[in-house]
Amino acid sequence: MVTEFVYAQPVKILFGAHRFDHLSEILKEHGIQRAVVACDRFFSERIRGMMQDTKEIVAVFDDVEENPQLSGVIETARLAKEHGADCVIGIGGGSTIDTAKFAAAVAADPEIAERCWKGEVPFPKETLHIVAVPTTAGTGSEVTQVSVVSHGRDKKTINNPVFMPLLAIVDPYLSSTVPPRTTMNTGIDAMAHALEGYWSKNHQPISDLCAIEAVRLILENLERAYRDGNDLEARTKMAYASLLGGLSFALPKTAGSHACSYPLSEDYHLPHGEACAFTLDSFVRINADERLEYLSRAAGLKDTAELAERIRALKETAGLRRTLSDLGDVDMDKLVRDCAAHPLMQNNPVQMTEEKLREMFEALQ
Ligand code: ZN
Repeated sequence: MVTEFVYAQPVKILFGAHRFDHLSEILKEHGIQRAVVACDRFFSERIRGMMQDTKEIVAVFDDVEENPQLSGVIETARLAKEHGADCVIGIGGGSTIDTAKFAAAVAADPEIAERCWKGEVPFPKETLHIVAVPTTAGTGSEVTQVSVVSHGRDKKTINNPVFMPLLAIVDPYLSSTVPPRTTMNTGIDAMAHALEGYWSKNHQPISDLCAIEAVRLILENLERAYRDGNDLEARTKMAYASLLGGLSFALPKTAGSHACSYPLSEDYHLPHGEACAFTLDSFVRINADERLEYLSRAAGLKDTAELAERIRALKETAGLRRTLSDLGDVDMDKLVRDCAAHPLMQNNPVQMTEEKLREMFEALQ
């Protein structure tokens, strides 16, 4: 029974195929005059080509790395300052949008900029306008206040309301060129956002609804999008599911699988989605309860066991790393210690001691 909750979602979402083609009008409509774009090399040519007709784009930083570095943030912010920009647009996957969010803060505040120059990743107070254009489905970063930025190997997750974008432009057509493996990695990440928001200790009813629909859509469409990137219907449903996944965890935050993903990315170099996927089916089994059974059935499955099995099968289909031996030499003591110590582990509904985590990883043979 719903008794009380607080819900807020401040991002204006523009969803639809070819929305991105109208970027100039959209920016004008929202009072944005001078924008710097952060993107990856893949989109660079297209964005530079658009600069002719889209006078609002004044500069492009196209060297965002997979785990975005503070150096890229500083460079994007430098361009924004140099060109007197009032907005930073992130066009790409989560790394790009996170870079844009943090650069918008660095460009807005000289004190923050100075601390970044010293190699710190500080907590900002204000930002230029942020526009997020996700091209993968996806991180959900377009509707969250999270930015993950690394300085060398030190990865910092900053949760800050100033990182909420002004606008999210979700154009499923942009994801049609995403390669199959990235499609699977990011699609399972979206599934992890939905499931972890749902089973987080801080879950709440409106986010729960988003989670159930996200899981249903991902189960129906992820494999289709993986097998045929040009299947625009599957891409559209995955873009929507990813957005719902973002809304599922924006308030409740994620839990066990995301907590484990950080050591798996840092020490074993798994991309974010693959790192979350590594333990997701294990956590479905560990966190199985009446609520998860309800979600599984509402998403069209027989039960929670089938949900875990479907996630395992998706990983197998795409050849994602699934077992301890896939990771190479594993320092089990460090792995379980780091996973247990991650703050997101506190959100997991089942308390995960180091012994329980060890048991979970050792079962992944
Ligand atoms: Zn994630």
